[in-house]
Amino acid sequence: MKTRGYAALRAKEDLVPFEFDRREMRDTDVVIDIAYAGICHSDIHQAREEWGEALFPMVPGHEIVGTVLDVGSEVKRFKKGDRVGVGVFIDSCRTCSNCKKGLQQYCYEGMTGTYNGYERDKKTIAQGGYCNRFVIDQDYAISIPSSLDIKGIAPLLCAGITLYSPIRHWKVGASSRVAVMGLGGLGHMGVKFAAALGADVTVLSHSARKRGDALAMGARSFVDTSVEGWNKELKKKFDLVLNTVSAEVDLDPYLQLLNTDGTLVVIGLPGKPYAVNAGTLLDGRRSIAGSMIGGIPEIEEMMKFCAEHNIVSDVEVINADYINMAYERTVASDVKYRFVIDASTF
Ligand code: NAP
Ligand code: ZN
Ligand code: ZN
Repeated sequence: MKTRGYAALRAKEDLVPFEFDRREMRDTDVVIDIAYAGICHSDIHQAREEWGEALFPMVPGHEIVGTVLDVGSEVKRFKKGDRVGVGVFIDSCRTCSNCKKGLQQYCYEGMTGTYNGYERDKKTIAQGGYCNRFVIDQDYAISIPSSLDIKGIAPLLCAGITLYSPIRHWKVGASSRVAVMGLGGLGHMGVKFAAALGADVTVLSHSARKRGDALAMGARSFVDTSVEGWNKELKKKFDLVLNTVSAEVDLDPYLQLLNTDGTLVVIGLPGKPYAVNAGTLLDGRRSIAGSMIGGIPEIEEMMKFCAEHNIVSDVEVINADYINMAYERTVASDVKYRFVIDASTF
């Protein structure tokens, strides 16, 4: 199937217009006419080979929304015209215990990523969502509530679920004190979800200009981490610290914020290891944990939560020819709060 998009042809080069063939529809596939695709910082890490060797040409994009254009003969879950989304994986083994539990992101064989990897046939390079068409097995496509603005939904497929999952796993509620490190694509979704659950949310940001937006999103406090001694008054004040920062930071001043038995969840993936101060960790039985996106049932649960609480991402819609500039601005933390590409411009 002829598809038009944008690709990185080599690491660290600008993305350029790119035409390619997708597989033809199988009996269990849905074909998607893409409407919007979000730009995740992970797209930038991979297109620039910041996580190690990558596969080129690479059409990035794993925050995809659109409309079902066609369905295979065995498709039961979707019909033509339905709103549909695709996230960070397009398949998995389906038989391991994690897949059976709906934790496809932790499949023991490894999830089949939306791009920068091979499809299950181990031959076809999977290409992502910066384009006009997508083909995916119905079991890995997400149904999208009709009440929400479609532009703001695209980022829910990665940024949204990546914060929703740990917020649920660590049982955030009205009595929780939560700190969110970094107010970017992921961080701003974390603020919205934790605030909707009634938590007392603090944003820890190195961009003072984001204060007003953080409070408008539901944070009760905003702390500028570029100010000397910023963490002094905050030590032992939080149950959960969600680290969404895309760059290497010294975790120690953030670990010090955790109250007894508190957890710092590593979500940002800068590509280099973090150093941990053992003294800070063992004082108060603190934990460091990780969390990666979420499985299909949890994405569906999040979509319902978003519909009930009227939550979408704050987006800046761009044309395809602005992708490279959007990458530069994202890396400079100049994003409000997710770039979303209008797929009609491919
Ligand atoms: P983003 O929109 O660029 O946001 C990252 C934020 O981190 C920035 O807006 C900035 O917030 C802060 N930051 C950036 N550089 C910094 C620095 N040098 N010092 C301190 N703070 C800095 O990125 P994103 O799309 O939200 O992704 C964030 C990270 O999560 C990326 O590494 C991405 O690969 C990773 N990720 C992980 C998962 C997962 O499953 N765990 C899923 C998706 C993405 P302030 O301006 O507020 O300081
Ligand atoms: Zn992502
Ligand atoms: Zn599996």
